[in-house]
Amino acid sequence: MLHFNKETVTARFISSSGETVQSPIEIRTNPVTGRTSRIAFSRIGELEAGTDSLPAPPPFAGDKSLCPFCRPSLQSKTPRLLPELMPEGRLIRGDSVLFPNLFPYGAYSAVSLFDDIHYVDIGTASPVSYTNSFLNCADYLKRVLTNDRKAFYMAITQNHLPAAGGSLLHPHLQIQADRVASNHHRFLGGKADSYFAENGSLLFSDYLYHEKNKEDRYIGKTGRWEWLTAFAPEGFFEIWGILPGVTSLSQITCDNWKDLSSGVLNTQRFYRSLCRNSYNLGLLMIEDGISRLELRVVIIVRSNYAPWVRNDHTGFEVMLGDMATFTAPEETAAAARPFWNDTM
Ligand SMILES: [Zn+2]
Repeated sequence: MLHFNKETVTARFISSSGETVQSPIEIRTNPVTGRTSRIAFSRIGELEAGTDSLPAPPPFAGDKSLCPFCRPSLQSKTPRLLPELMPEGRLIRGDSVLFPNLFPYGAYSAVSLFDDIHYVDIGTASPVSYTNSFLNCADYLKRVLTNDRKAFYMAITQNHLPAAGGSLLHPHLQIQADRVASNHHRFLGGKADSYFAENGSLLFSDYLYHEKNKEDRYIGKTGRWEWLTAFAPEGFFEIWGILPGVTSLSQITCDNWKDLSSGVLNTQRFYRSLCRNSYNLGLLMIEDGISRLELRVVIIVRSNYAPWVRNDHTGFEVMLGDMATFTAPEETAAAARPFWNDTM
């Protein structure tokens, strides 16, 4: 069974005006990973540099001259897939184009563009551009699996803007497939399988069932995807989308990808309302044919991409391993719900 544990510790000190101050910090344990994270409520009132308004695009946002992802440079400056994966060299769906990552992180590493628009402010992309890009990712991953049945540790990720790790402004997804598991594949795959062996039910379906009954972290639906805030966040304003009961790419329909796109864009519009312009997204799959790991997309805000903004990973996160956020997930869910109203 899943346990949603939290406890509060209190820091006490004498303020500069001589009063005794008690400052509560909530420590929550992630029901899936067992990792603790902290909500330092006292910092929510802090005026964080660069978040009083949505940062302007970087001054070079209009300069496409050096961008290998803008057409017509795309054809001459990006690599092509091996013929056994795709004889034409690139996967094209609508305005989305998928090609290998010139700087791969694993055996199969690709990039999927949304379209030919070089700079896209958060929350302003077209839903069809996301749907086409996700469909290209799914097509690529299925081709990889056909060619290499053991490269079943798969992921689709996004680094929106350099503050989230993006090396090129031009919006894109990264796609990975490998025979070697990442840490999160290894842990989540093992956890989902052992959970099923012990309980006879699926990990994220049960997690979702608990959260839908509890309601205070549940946000809404887009098609079959169900959206909620993480109980014990490992990033700022962390939002999950769960596709319950679906454990393989082969079970995902075109509509599922379209509905995922709606939820991702809802999340972006919510982040934009918080004057945040940068985020990471991740969707992990284990395509070994027996994994009990259901599809779950995770989206977290990163520090704004703007001059002199404080990084969101401090010594506390990097050296102690506990994420410290400032907002209760229940408040995040309440603020996010209006962005799902048109799709619920
Ligand atoms: Zn470009």
